[in-house]
Amino acid sequence: MGYVDEVLESVKKKNADQPEFLQAVGEVLESLRPVVDANEELYRKNAILERIVEPDRQIMFRVPWVDDKGQVQVNRGYRVQFNNAIGPYKGGLRLHPSVNLSIIKFLGFEQIFKNSLTTLPIGGGKGGSDFDPKGKSDREIMAFCQSFVTELYKYIGADQDVPAGDIGTGAREIGFMYGQYKRITNLYEGVLTGKGLSYGGSLARTQATGYGLLYLTNALLRDHNIDIKGKICAVSGAGNVAIYAIEKAYQLGAKPVTCSDSTGWIYDPEGIDVELLKEIKEVKRARLSEYAAARPSAQYHEKKNAEDHGVWSIKCDLALPCATQNELNLEDAKMLVANGVISVTEGANMPTTLEATKYLQENGVLFVGGKAANAGGVATSALEMSQNSERLSWTFEEVDGKLKNIMETIYANISDAAKRYGVEGDYVAGANIAGFEKVVNAMLAQGVC
Ligand code: NDP
Repeated sequence: MGYVDEVLESVKKKNADQPEFLQAVGEVLESLRPVVDANEELYRKNAILERIVEPDRQIMFRVPWVDDKGQVQVNRGYRVQFNNAIGPYKGGLRLHPSVNLSIIKFLGFEQIFKNSLTTLPIGGGKGGSDFDPKGKSDREIMAFCQSFVTELYKYIGADQDVPAGDIGTGAREIGFMYGQYKRITNLYEGVLTGKGLSYGGSLARTQATGYGLLYLTNALLRDHNIDIKGKICAVSGAGNVAIYAIEKAYQLGAKPVTCSDSTGWIYDPEGIDVELLKEIKEVKRARLSEYAAARPSAQYHEKKNAEDHGVWSIKCDLALPCATQNELNLEDAKMLVANGVISVTEGANMPTTLEATKYLQENGVLFVGGKAANAGGVATSALEMSQNSERLSWTFEEVDGKLKNIMETIYANISDAAKRYGVEGDYVAGANIAGFEKVVNAMLAQGVC
């Protein structure tokens, strides 16, 4: 049995009750086969794979808080510190009822490679709780966040572990958590990212994931001698990533014609009016049907269902899934290929199913997964850490300029890694390999730890 298979077997035995974690390890290790085969003796002797699939530590704790009726509630808190070979642990805090150890470990494992790809010194971690912020009052949210940090603060720090937002953890929650950390430790340090601008947040963080996605897409197209100007984009989602992907697409000369939310989708052949979209989604927090009501050129369709391909039924050159996981399936991929799509670059995490990814790759579509394509978000969080350490704030242009460089470097690195290991054009494998190589080199240099 080869080294990869041996480790996969052992991970399955040890973590049989963690399906999401097993899936993530399986997918990453499969794509690392070329680099592992080429270095098998060295990696085996140093137990590199056994070490990289085992978190440095997994912290689980009780989070008691009092609701508005005076009732004590109890949630479970998690922080998995996966690997800090190249920098302090970094990864978001997810607040959602579905959160369990398997999901946090899956996200923390993936984060090691994504963070490594950013070229910045950040290790991998993830955390959260099964707390559901939906329908809670501001006071209840604050009570939860304060209790959560009252335990978590023991394990985090600006040079140790720097959590960020994720699903359910936005600016409000980060603010409450930061306040509690400061109160307990008496330290004013960059221990969390995604902070408000008045207390250490970074300009351009809001735009970073969407802008970064387009910088990377542009680098990919340029490398294949394709000009992004005039290209029609199908975008899904109408949230933070989608809005700023649409904005940057225009700035680069492309034409985004779709967007979607959880109730329906828009086709606007004249091009999405991004200012109107911001007004509806960021200010009014309304449904997309309001967009169509305000814009005569737009067609509104009810929610995508199994027979309906939603935004992926529109003829486009560039597909940019920016909504949610598993939103682009095999049938959607067939529709995109039939309509002549050139590239699919993922703004969301895991929006394309495994079968759809394979189909797109086999049919010559340029495909870059979220690990590389949406890394602009975490990269800019790391830039927030740098600004906090310097006690300086950079201008929007400075941060945006660095983001552009980072995304172009990420593309160059994943393309190069794929070429070096004989899988040219497979940017999914290229991303895993490039992210893995840097971490492994650091682990080897640091000895057995
Ligand atoms: P938001 O919550 O701001 O936006 C998500 C958007 O997708 C919303 O408009 C939502 O609709 C829509 N949506 C959700 N489910 C569906 C669905 N089934 N069909 C169509 N539309 C749907 O999230 P973000 O934009 O921040 O994140 C989007 C994705 O990008 C997630 O996968 C996230 O993990 C990933 N990501 C985000 C980063 C960031 O910096 N924000 C960084 C890296 C990855 P509605 O308005 O109705 O809720």
